[in-house]
Amino acid sequence: METVVSGIRPTGRLHLGNYFGAMKNFLQMQETHNCFFFIADYHSLTTHPNPGDLRASVRKVLSEYLACGLDPDKCTLYVQSDLPETAELYLLLNMHAYAGELERSTTFKEKIRKQPDNINAGLLTYPVLMASDILIHRADKVPVGKDQEQHLEMTRTFGNRFNRMYREGFFPEPVAFNFGKKLVKVPGLDGSGKMGKSEGAGNAIFLSEDDASVKKKVMRAVTDAGPEKPNQEKPEVIENLFTLLKLVSTEETVKHFDDKYNDCSIRYGDMKKQLAEDMIRFIRPLSEQIRDTAADIKHIDRVIDLGREKARESAGKTMQEVRSLLGFRP
Ligand code: AMP
Repeated sequence: METVVSGIRPTGRLHLGNYFGAMKNFLQMQETHNCFFFIADYHSLTTHPNPGDLRASVRKVLSEYLACGLDPDKCTLYVQSDLPETAELYLLLNMHAYAGELERSTTFKEKIRKQPDNINAGLLTYPVLMASDILIHRADKVPVGKDQEQHLEMTRTFGNRFNRMYREGFFPEPVAFNFGKKLVKVPGLDGSGKMGKSEGAGNAIFLSEDDASVKKKVMRAVTDAGPEKPNQEKPEVIENLFTLLKLVSTEETVKHFDDKYNDCSIRYGDMKKQLAEDMIRFIRPLSEQIRDTAADIKHIDRVIDLGREKARESAGKTMQEVRSLLGFRP
């Protein structure tokens, strides 16, 4: 069975973009692959979070993933900092990662621009830590978005470099991976192309959001003055609403409003009301499950313990061989 590794940011709550863009993929993968999903709390140190906040958000994120259906018996769900093996591999790989190639990374350049007062070495070597997360389980596949392609390329570079120096074929070459057909890009409600937690306040619908708040956001979604002639092409903001409708409503409902758009009789207020209703129907069971799961801290901590045990078994095997290949005591 092929091995998949994916990191999860320990910040924010899951929104519909995360659900349809990533979670659905994870739910399928856990059925067919040997999956390691980890909460990337080492990575988050580059922004110096408050320790209490970090601990709480790790639990929060984990409870949302469990509530969505990730099953700790089917996959390995762990906290990155529970695996000292990752930190050790990171140290070793750093000796073969060159400053020049790290400085050329586009995300590093972006970070320099975004946080000029905190350009720490962790930011520079971020791709090495990411490579360690992947190589520590000798992963074959990594579900990544376009923005992470360059990091994955660097992971292959570091893995291959190690192989050439110490043992050919030791680390597999991990490739980018999405399950089945192309994943949807979920649009935001404020007319911006993408739903995201760092966009404006009304842009994202969170899975833990209550009914009234979902309704308020959807009713405020950006629209235009309406179609002027039959069958005209939809402008982006309207297309976005239809994309959302397709995710949570029945085909019949979508067709109903599509027909109304095409014969120019559409009333956006009606469409948004329907969208809000269907979104609430979709989200409510998830938000209830999130609430229940988050309340059971003992269960979450048991999941974390189980994850650590499984992840360390896999990582321990890799590190034993790596240490011996490098000439250290196993
Ligand atoms: P982020 O919230 O940016 O950390 O993203 C976590 C995961 O959700 C990544 O796999 C993203 O590609 C995915 N994701 C985030 N926002 C969207 C969106 N609006 N549409 C589709 N996928 C998304």
